[in-house]
Parts: sequence; C-alpha cells; structure tokens
Amino acid sequence: MNTIVTVIFFIYGLVFGSFFNVVGLRVPNGTLFAQTRSYCDTCQRTLTWKELIPVWSFLRQRGRCRQCKEKISLLYPIMELTTGLLAAFTYYRYGFSEQTLLGILLIALIIPLTVSDIAYRKIPNKMLLFFTPLFVVLRLFNPQPSFWASLLGTVLAFSLVFVIILLSNGGMGAGDLKYFTLLGFIFGPALFLLLFFLATLYGAIMGMILMRLKKGNRKMTIPFGPYIGLAALTVFYFGETILQWYLSFLS
Ligand SMILES: [Zn+2]
Repeated sequence: MNTIVTVIFFIYGLVFGSFFNVVGLRVPNGTLFAQTRSYCDTCQRTLTWKELIPVWSFLRQRGRCRQCKEKISLLYPIMELTTGLLAAFTYYRYGFSEQTLLGILLIALIIPLTVSDIAYRKIPNKMLLFFTPLFVVLRLFNPQPSFWASLLGTVLAFSLVFVIILLSNGGMGAGDLKYFTLLGFIFGPALFLLLFFLATLYGAIMGMILMRLKKGNRKMTIPFGPYIGLAALTVFYFGETILQWYLSFLS
C-alpha cells in the first residue's frame, strides 16, 4: 500500500464519480450524448471548468447554480465523494490486483445505477447490458469463484428473486431482478445469499428509520437499488470475512 497511489485513486474516483452522476441522470432519459459539455439541469447553461471541480465547486457555490441560483442536487457531491473513497479503499485493501480491477468495475456499475434508481426509480437495461460482457470477460481471466459457481450464482439469484417478486407483489421490480442476477454471476452462490440477506436487511432498517421520521406513509415505495449496491460493496470488501466468521461461529 502506497499513500501517494491511494491519493491518486481518490482523486480519480472523485472525477469519475462526477461522470457517473451524469451517466446515472442522463442514460434513463436518453440525453447522455445530446450535449457533450456539462450544463446546469435547470437553466441549461454550459458550465465552466471552475464549476466542474468535484465536491469543491458544490461547496464554493453553496449548492446552487451560479446563474439561476437553483439548488444543485446533493446527489452530486455525495456520489463524487463516495466514488473517491471507494476507489481509494479498493486500492488500499487489494493493491494492484485483479480484485482491484473487479472493484473498480463494480463501483462503475453501482454508482450510476444508484443515482438512476434514486432519481427515476429506474435501473436502466442499457447500463446492465453495457457491464455484463465486461464482467464475463473479467471472470474468464480471473476464475474466482469458478465459472460453474458463477453460473450457479446466476441461476440461484434469478430464481430466488423471481419467486420473491411473485410472492411479495410489489416492492422489487424487473430492474432489481436483473441487477441481482448480474451480481449472482459476479459473486457466486454463497456470497450472493449473503448479499441478498444484507440488501433486504439494509432496506428494512432504512424503511423503519423513514417510518419513525414519518417522512412518508406506508404505501410509499422506496427504491431498492441503493441497498442492493450497498450490500454488493459490503460483500465485495468483507464477504469472505463475514462467511468465515459465520462458519467458525457455527462449528
Ligand atoms: Zn442554472
């Protein structure tokens, strides 16, 4: 682990986080390539480079557009910072390895999907379709878990979530099903089960907190994608440790 490299990962993470926000907000409505330069979502003005520095621009402008004074979504700085921290932590934990490559790819999948699900309640097919071949290729070069475990994880994830959607009648949707299925392929059956458990646990905890705050009624639907992403990251960094701890606890 090298401090300078960790900082470089953090800075690249901030910059890519900024890009992932744009991807998450524009892919669902098909405007990703409509305008190449970044613009204000409200007044459509093209932003200057001073307004494009991750996190810093948001703080300096006190969260508002410099021209129209419209509030800028808190999602931008939060996701930039999250991406920066995750990129740095991935290198800190795994160094220069295939695992770090997998981590970066996972972050690149999770951050835009989380943004899109929070903003539009949508997990775009386009993003899943874009990333699936990349994960398949990476799996061919880094056969851990084995390819059979990946196939088993895919089948398990699809059938488990499919049955739960049929039984629960609402809550999770087709987007969540596809998202879970890709993660089943990435993690294999054992880690996937942990991931699924954690995602529902996080969702339930957050649901209870929101209920306490009375920020919504019982019928309110909360997007489930962010909890899937959070669970996937937990499993990526700590899954093996949690499983080992759990097995030693049983024996
Ligand atoms: Zn504006």
